[in-house]
Formats: sequence, structure tokens, C-alpha cells
Amino acid sequence: MGKNEIGISWTIKGFENRGFKVEKYNIPISTINIVAGTLTILSIIVWITVCRLLWGHVFFPTSLISATIYVAIMIVLHELLHAIGFTIRRRIKWKGSIKFGFNLNRLFCYCIYLKPLPLIDYLIGALFPFAVLGIGLFVISIIIGSKLLLLASICNFLACTGDLMLFHLAVKKYPSLILEHPTDVGFIALYEQHVDQ
Ligand SMILES: [Zn+2]
Repeated sequence: MGKNEIGISWTIKGFENRGFKVEKYNIPISTINIVAGTLTILSIIVWITVCRLLWGHVFFPTSLISATIYVAIMIVLHELLHAIGFTIRRRIKWKGSIKFGFNLNRLFCYCIYLKPLPLIDYLIGALFPFAVLGIGLFVISIIIGSKLLLLASICNFLACTGDLMLFHLAVKKYPSLILEHPTDVGFIALYEQHVDQ
């Protein structure tokens, strides 16, 4: 385990000692780029189609300052929603179990749950920003006819690309518990071993 995984390597050893099988999975950046590129094209098509249907013309935001403020707010909300999603089923104190931060090397914000999460909690947490800021905002934007919210929801769809891929990977690998990976787009899967005696 690398030095970026401080705290997690100890946990993995502990889990191996307790009879768990440990697997590390991550999604290659090239795959993420291909999926993100495809989704960007799809988002632009959705954007143009909805704009034409609702307002008869395509709308583009003009103020860079307000766009930057919106993006900053959305990034913070996105990470907060991960934290809420991870802990929504159980009353867990965030202090000591959740870490928010900014990865300088890869230039992204993160919210990481420091302990092994049951698969269902991981899936809820991974999907929460997509459900609220993606689908939720999209529905609200159509109901109230807000161009800005529609744009925000589409940007949030794109911001959730990695989350959706991790969700899919977690469902496919189906471990009992998941440890979030601190640096890669990936996770450490813990499987309960059923030993016949
Ligand atoms: Zn996310």
C-alpha cells in the first residue's frame, strides 16, 4: 500500500486478519475520459433539445463570474451530498469518519469515508449528488422553466461521471464492504470469506 493510503493499509490488514478477502479496483483515467466525452456530447444534445422545446432558442450563460460562483457552490454541495448519502441510513458522526479535501495533483475536491462502508451505504453515497443535483435539479428546472437550473443540472450530470462509473463497478463486483480509495477513482472491496470446515 502506498503512502497516500495512510490509515487504510492498517484497516486492510485488520480485515485480512478477520478473514476478509481484499481486492482493489480502480477505473483507468482513459476510460473515464471516453465516458465523460460521450456524456458531454449527449448533454449538449439534451441541452439544445430542451432549450428549443421550452424556450424556442438555445441559451448560453454570459457572465463568467456568476458561472464560477455557481460551479463553486455546486462542487461544495456535491461533496456534502456524498457525505449525507454515506451516512443517511445510520446516525454516524462525520467527525473522524468523513474527510473533505482537495487533491492538488489532480485538481478535484473529494469527500472520503474513512472506514469500510456496507455496500448499500456506499451505493447511496455514490449516487446521492447525481440524484439530487442531477435528476432533482433537472426535474425542478423543467417544472419552473429555469434555464440556469437546467444548465446546472446538466453540468452536475457530467460532474457525476466518475461516481456513476464507481456505482456500476461496485454493483458488478458486489463486495460486502467498501473502503473508498483516497487518490484513485476506485475502491478497495472487502469480501466475506465463507470457509467450509
Ligand atoms: Zn462525486
